[in-house]
Amino acid sequence: MEGVGKPLVRAAVGRAIGRCLAAVGDWLAPPACAACDAPIAAGVAFCVPCAGTVDRLDPGRPLAAFAFGGAVRDAVVRFKYGGRSDLARPLGSLLLGAAGVAGLSADLVVPVPLHPVRLAERGFNQAALLARVLAPSCGSFTPSLRRVAVRQRQASLGRAERLANLDGAFVAHPRVRGRSVIVVDDVWTTGATFAACEAALLGAGAAAVTPFALARTLRSAADRTAR
Ligand SMILES: [Zn+2]
Repeated sequence: MEGVGKPLVRAAVGRAIGRCLAAVGDWLAPPACAACDAPIAAGVAFCVPCAGTVDRLDPGRPLAAFAFGGAVRDAVVRFKYGGRSDLARPLGSLLLGAAGVAGLSADLVVPVPLHPVRLAERGFNQAALLARVLAPSCGSFTPSLRRVAVRQRQASLGRAERLANLDGAFVAHPRVRGRSVIVVDDVWTTGATFAACEAALLGAGAAAVTPFALARTLRSAADRTAR
């Protein structure tokens, strides 16, 4: 019994310490706008002026929560390139809110993996941090994709492999077989990355794949409806 109980006690103590540290962290760092650091009320991501620049996309097709612009762009840039991994919480909460509106859920929540060189530079994978916030409500956080450096001649490949090859190939773990998957990334640009991830997951037997991004770059206003 002792052997079983001890790890449980340790886990409980670890959780309690984690809660205390989180509370201390909130006290040391009062809520600040994710885009400009202005003080904000608890439970929101942006200050009032920044919130006015946010373009929320129609959740009818849950591909991306926001247009990539205004405060969302500023916050994502700070998050990814400014070493602000703390912004994963407010940005992840925005993603979670959009997922709730869209009724999004799956067996697995899988982040788009970062190229190992970028991961070493940045120290964190922004997609994984967002997926962790999203996962408890929408599925099980289960990193199941990895990038492989091998690039083959395009001519010898099928369409799915060709797409994968375009963006650095992805390989999916066999555990995705028969499971529904939400693939999470921070920004949807050309869609090549999502297409390559989707191809890898379906190739490994995933039952369904839903790409989901915090923000999407829009070429024109028409993109907002013609997604
Ligand atoms: Zn602001």
